[in-house]
Amino acid sequence: MRTINDILKKYRQPQVMTVRFDDQSGWLTPFAEEAQAICQANGATFVVLESGGMNAVAIQDEIEIVGMYAGMFWVLCRVAAVAAERGVFPAMKGEAEPIWAPDPMRTKQAPRRLLQESDPFVWAIESAGWRDAPERQMLFYLVLKLLFRFVVFHEVGHLRNDHGRRKQSAISSPLLMDRRAPPLIDPKKAIPSQAREIIADGYAFQNTFTTLETMLSKAGEFDLIKTYKKRLFKSESDTITFVLTIINLYFRISDRSDWRNQPIDRLSHPPAPFRMKAILALLIEDKSFGIDERTSMNAIQGAVMSGDALMSVMLDVYPNPNWLKEIDTPAYDRHFKRLFYEFPRWCGRLTH
Ligand SMILES: [Zn+2]
Repeated sequence: MRTINDILKKYRQPQVMTVRFDDQSGWLTPFAEEAQAICQANGATFVVLESGGMNAVAIQDEIEIVGMYAGMFWVLCRVAAVAAERGVFPAMKGEAEPIWAPDPMRTKQAPRRLLQESDPFVWAIESAGWRDAPERQMLFYLVLKLLFRFVVFHEVGHLRNDHGRRKQSAISSPLLMDRRAPPLIDPKKAIPSQAREIIADGYAFQNTFTTLETMLSKAGEFDLIKTYKKRLFKSESDTITFVLTIINLYFRISDRSDWRNQPIDRLSHPPAPFRMKAILALLIEDKSFGIDERTSMNAIQGAVMSGDALMSVMLDVYPNPNWLKEIDTPAYDRHFKRLFYEFPRWCGRLTH
């Protein structure tokens, strides 16, 4: 039987990184342990990969593997650290008042660049301004937790729906790679690929939400949970709004903005605002969330508005309230329908 590293090599992936207790990010060990538990419950193995790219992969071979590039973890840590430092979510107390000095030059840059993509996150340095404010540290932990779970569950979503095996029988490679693919691919491949992404996002959204609800319901005597409930989750609808806000933040950050002049049916991944919109649609249509339509609509409105404010304050850029509206066109609606018809081919476990 081949080892994990053999399989990674076969798909030209970086090697496994040893997760050290004294990793300078400060948080890799507990997060990798949680990801391992999630993956094992789904028959897969979790590994961190030696690379600074903001990527994650799911592989279905002799072993099912979810791999997160170290660079993805670093960016997620940095997003959470910037949230803690810049005074957003002021209900979580600390020294920092929200500061905002938007800069036109920064506004022109991709958020991933502003977040120094591929620079290792160094806890000792990057938490210096707020480490001693317990509630800001709790906020860091919560934001990181949700971002991290969303990425892990997205990859698990590919496995749970057998995207690798289905894809292998349809095309050839059982590798699912979440990074920039060749700029343009044939629509015959692009439509199924985009459908798979939307399905994996839906799975990730549902599970990120459910695991947060479970965590909050186990209140017990944990100070951490008590503080979250007192400050951030006062009413039931606060949970769904918070999850949507963080996912919106994730898509704003990962938006490469290079899709605008490209034919939509030739991209391997749907544009980031398109993926966000699909998640919002899922919330309204899927009754399994147990949330009525009115609460959903309020949550959506709240998340979209606060998502834009968060981006501006965290990155010192001008707001872009039209980020999501950009894809409100008949052409994009038609594209969404096309993906919708593709979904049944990519849902659920294969039986044989
Ligand atoms: Zn994916």
